[in-house]
Amino acid sequence: MLDPAPITLKKYLGELKPCIICNSENLESWTKLDYLEAKKCRECGMISVNPHLTNEGLSKLYEGYFLSRLEQKEMSEKRKISHKLDFDWITKFINHGKVLDVGCSGGQFLSFFDPKKWERQGVEIDKDTALIAKTEYNIPVKIGYFPEISFEDKFDLIIIRGVIEHFSDPISVLKKCAEVLKPNGYLFISATPVGNSFAFHVYREKWVHYTPLSHIHFFTVDLLTRMLKNFNMSLIDQHYPYEETPYANPEKDFTKIENDIILISQGKRDQISSTPFLGSVMTAVWQKNS
Ligand SMILES: [Zn+2]
Repeated sequence: MLDPAPITLKKYLGELKPCIICNSENLESWTKLDYLEAKKCRECGMISVNPHLTNEGLSKLYEGYFLSRLEQKEMSEKRKISHKLDFDWITKFINHGKVLDVGCSGGQFLSFFDPKKWERQGVEIDKDTALIAKTEYNIPVKIGYFPEISFEDKFDLIIIRGVIEHFSDPISVLKKCAEVLKPNGYLFISATPVGNSFAFHVYREKWVHYTPLSHIHFFTVDLLTRMLKNFNMSLIDQHYPYEETPYANPEKDFTKIENDIILISQGKRDQISSTPFLGSVMTAVWQKNS
């Protein structure tokens, strides 16, 4: 885990910015952990850690992070089950063509895409992690910051899985997706924490997904759809994976949140800790209009 926030990174805190969705400066405090405060836009409801780390700070934060993540065996197994769930969901909409995974890590998700049906391409900021995609799965990966990379061809499917919330400027990422998608191509955004979820409302700084160094932006499907409309894309379907995932334990999770709500009402926030919960994580697909 990267958080809570080490004090050594505090000097990399950037400037307060207007809302990334509607550009409003009418922001209110949503929650705070150490020196990292999330603010909610009073106009559109978008929640972002603001200010957050600069790109220089983010590079420092992620030094050695990606490879260490792949070495966590138990987490890797659970992630594999989640990958399969996502793969089964997205391939209901499209089942062959050119696929691009933005922030592809070691190619684990792309490895589900059969190379006989799919021409696979990854993008990854970390070159050591990208090497795994090449050596283990024979997946070509471009190294760098996605909005600045040029591509020879356009894609039928772009995947952003557990990644959009990490970008300092996710709007430039969405714009780039629109540029490199074919007409009628699909954009699949998944495994990203939901800003207006019940559990975030209850837990705030104690929410399992509130890791404010790395998770900067907390979208909703509606807010993403609003942005993507500007880039000529329309929402096709959405889904909130929970009970089918390896992280859920509905009986335990529901009892836990009930007890924690009581503790919060008694002023005992120090005793609460969040678990996975229904509606906390989103999966959705948009299509570029022809
Ligand atoms: Zn806003």
